[in-house]
Amino acid sequence: MSTTDPIFAPIPGATHHEVAGVVIDISPAGEGRVKRVIYPAGFRWSTHMKAISGTDLCMHAHVGFLVRGTIHMQYADGCVVEFTAPQPVVIDAGHDGWVVGNEPAVLIEFDFLGDTVRRFGLPKTHTHE
Ligand SMILES: [Zn+2]
Repeated sequence: MSTTDPIFAPIPGATHHEVAGVVIDISPAGEGRVKRVIYPAGFRWSTHMKAISGTDLCMHAHVGFLVRGTIHMQYADGCVVEFTAPQPVVIDAGHDGWVVGNEPAVLIEFDFLGDTVRRFGLPKTHTHE
């Protein structure tokens, strides 16, 4: 991680969390939230977060903009999708995911806490319908 890259700098006023090596800074936005999420190199959801989550796959949807790094998503039906910064990100619920390469991935993410899927009109889980 580059220490001079301002995308990694502290965010005044944000609520700071670290979970399984993932660094999350959360700021309120009406009924939703804006988050900067830093996934370290080597992070894999099924390895580092699954036990904490208690589900087989990550059941959150992710909407935002990837500003650093590359992430790889894998859905239950075998579909894979990869995002490389700079790139908008829309990830359906029901995925495993990991960081590709030796650099952390930084995702600027927007959510509505437990109501993200409905508010964005996304499928409850990954689907082709
Ligand atoms: Zn699919």
